[in-house]
Amino acid sequence: MIKLLSRRELQELYADNDLYQYDEDSSYNMVGVLSVPLRDCLAIAYDAKVGALNDEPIQAHELVVDMLMHYYELDDIGTIPNQWLRMYDELDVDGDETVYYDSRGVVIPRQVYYPAKAITNNILRTVGRWHPYAYKMRTNLDDISMNQGYLITMKVYGDNQTLESVSGWRDTAQYISNNDGKITRVSGNNSWTIDSSTNRFASVGELQESRAYTECKVCQTFNKYRTNMIPIRSIKKDRGLRWRNRKNVCHTCVIAILNSKYRTDMGEYVDIRFKGTIAFDGVDTLLMAPLNTFSEQITYDNLLELRNEFGRFFRKFPNVFGVSTNVFYELRPIPEVDHDYRFETGLLNYSYTFPIFLTSVAQYGYESSSVGYDWQDPIWYRKNGPFYGVELECNVKQNRPDYRDIHVVREQAIKLFHPAMYPEGYTQDGSHQLIYAKRDGSLNGTYGVEFVSQPLSYNYWVNHVPEVFWQYFKDNFLARNLGECGIHVHIGWDSMTVPERYVFLTILEQMQEQNSELLEAIAGRSSNSYARWDSLVYRGAKDRAFQVALEKTQTGSNPKYNAINTQHEATIELRYFQGNTGRNSILSILQFIQTLYNFAGYITSNFTWDYGVDAPPESLQKWIDDIRDDVDNVILSYMFETDDMDFMYKRIGEQRLRSMINNTFEEGTMAMVRYHSMLDMRVLALTTNEER
Ligand SMILES: [Zn+2]
Repeated sequence: MIKLLSRRELQELYADNDLYQYDEDSSYNMVGVLSVPLRDCLAIAYDAKVGALNDEPIQAHELVVDMLMHYYELDDIGTIPNQWLRMYDELDVDGDETVYYDSRGVVIPRQVYYPAKAITNNILRTVGRWHPYAYKMRTNLDDISMNQGYLITMKVYGDNQTLESVSGWRDTAQYISNNDGKITRVSGNNSWTIDSSTNRFASVGELQESRAYTECKVCQTFNKYRTNMIPIRSIKKDRGLRWRNRKNVCHTCVIAILNSKYRTDMGEYVDIRFKGTIAFDGVDTLLMAPLNTFSEQITYDNLLELRNEFGRFFRKFPNVFGVSTNVFYELRPIPEVDHDYRFETGLLNYSYTFPIFLTSVAQYGYESSSVGYDWQDPIWYRKNGPFYGVELECNVKQNRPDYRDIHVVREQAIKLFHPAMYPEGYTQDGSHQLIYAKRDGSLNGTYGVEFVSQPLSYNYWVNHVPEVFWQYFKDNFLARNLGECGIHVHIGWDSMTVPERYVFLTILEQMQEQNSELLEAIAGRSSNSYARWDSLVYRGAKDRAFQVALEKTQTGSNPKYNAINTQHEATIELRYFQGNTGRNSILSILQFIQTLYNFAGYITSNFTWDYGVDAPPESLQKWIDDIRDDVDNVILSYMFETDDMDFMYKRIGEQRLRSMINNTFEEGTMAMVRYHSMLDMRVLALTTNEER
C-alpha cells in the first residue's frame, strides 16, 4: 500500500541517506513525501496502459484516488502529519467546479483528487523511464517484492504556490528501497532494474558487476543466465528487439512471447512490440520472429529429453513443452551447402558480363557449351534447348527464416542453385557457375538483388533446378508485391529460324495490341514503366515483326524498358513479368514462352519459304491473319490441345481460365465446350491427387 511518510520518518530518512536537507531550503513552503511500493508503481503503469489502449478513463488514477480516500476517511490526513494533502488544500485550483467521484460514487474532495492526479502522473512519468520493461511483458506482478518502495517528493514553492514534483530530476536519491522495514538508498540514478531471480529491484551497476547475471534482451531485467536464461536469435523488426546473433533471454520472456499471440489487447495488455512467434529447429536454435512469419506449426517429440540448455529450459515448463503440447513453429534448418567449387558470390555490378554457356540436360549428366559454334543451328537448339537466361529481381526478406546477414543469404541462394558436388556431372567447355548476383539501380540499395542465370534449357529449369533452392528462394526472398521487381527472360535469336522468330514476335506484338488477357495473367501486370507494351519499331518496314525477326533489331529509339527489348545482340529480352519467387510462377512464365516457341515451330515446320524473295506461304499467312484477328484464341487453343500447361494452369487459376475461355470462344462452340470439360478433368485429377 502506498504510504505517506511522517515528518519524523522523513527526517530520519534524509539524515540517514545524505539526502538534501529540505528544512534548510527556504525557497518552498511545504514538502510532502510519499512512499509507493515498486510493485504498485508497475501495477499503476500497467493499468494506465490497458486503460489507454481500451480508450477508458485512466484506471490507474482511480487506484490512487481510492488509496487516498482511504486515508481521508480514516482521518489520517489529520493524524498522520501529512504535508502532502494539506498543501493541496491551500492551493488555488483555478476555480474548477467539476465534482469528481471515486469508484464507489463518493464525492472526492479536491485535496484528494488533485494530489491523486499528481501522484499518478509522477509515477507514470518516472516508471515509463525505468529500465525494466518487465511490466510490458508480464501481467502477473504478484511475485514482485512489496517490500521495496519509490519515494515521490512534491514541493510547493514561493508566494504563487505552484506545485512541483522534484522526483526524477533532483540530483538527490529519489529511489529508495525499504528493505525489511528500513528505508535505504539503492541508487542515486535511474539505473534500476529487476533482478528476476529474486523479483527484487536492484541497481543495474551492482548486477552488471555480478558474473552470474546478465541482462535479458527482451525485458531488460537481470537474471542468472546459467539457470534462468536461454540464448535465442531474433528477426523481429521492432527497435531493440532485432538482433541476429545469439542473445540471452530469460525463460519467462520466451514463454510470454509464445503466449503473446493469444493475449488480447483487452485487459491482458502486452506491448505490441513484444508480440511474436518463436520457432525452433528441434536441436539448438530458437528464433523470435514477428507473428505470421511461419506457416507450419509442428509438434516436436522428446523436447524434454534434449541434453542441452534447451532441454533444461523445456523441462522447466513441462506443461508447455510436454508431448504434443508444445506450440513451436518449425524453424527450417538452414540447408547445408558443401561445394568444392569457388563460386563468385559477391554482388556484381550491373554492367558485369560473364561468359555465356548454354546448359542442357544430356543423356548422362549435363552439358554446357559456349556460344558461337556453327553446329548450334535452330535444329540443334530445338533438340537441346531452347535456353532461357532468366533475371530474377527481388529483395532479401527482412523477416526471413535464414536469420544470417544479407550477403550470406545471397551466397546461400547462389550455392543452392547448383547441385551438390557441382560441377561433377557437367561436361563443360570452361569453368562457370549457373547463376550470379548483381546489383541493379532500380532495386532497393540494401535488400535488392538481381539473380542472373546462364541460359538453361527448359528441361533444366523444370526438372533440374534443385528443390532446395526453390524452397530457400521463396522463404528468404520476396518480389511479388514490389513494383520495381521484375522477371526478364532472354531467348537467343539464333535458337529460332527467321519464320519462327517472325511468328514469335507477331504473337507478342499482337498480344500487346489486343491487350491479351492471357499475357496479362501470366505477366502478373499490364504495361508499366518497367516494361512498356510498345509496338515494335522498324522504319519503312511493311511488316515490322518480320523485319525485326530478319534483322534481329529495331530501328530508332526502342528503350530498354520496352517489354520486348531487342537491344542485345544475341538475345530477345522479354520484360513483361512481375517479380516472383515462387517456383510455379517462375516456371509458368517459361512454360508460356516455351508454348509460343513450340507454336512458332509447329506452324512453320511444313513448308520451305524463301523469305528473302517471296511473300509468306499461304498456310503461314492464314495463321498470321488468325493471330492478328484474335491472338488469345489461337494460343489458348494451342495450349489446351497440346495440354502442356500445368504451371500456367496453376498460375492463372481455374476461375480466371474459365472466364478467359468464355471471353475468347463463342458461346456453344465445340472449342468452348471442349476446353471447359478439359478443365473439369484437370480439377478432378487434382482433387483426386490431393485425396490420395
Ligand atoms: Zn526477460
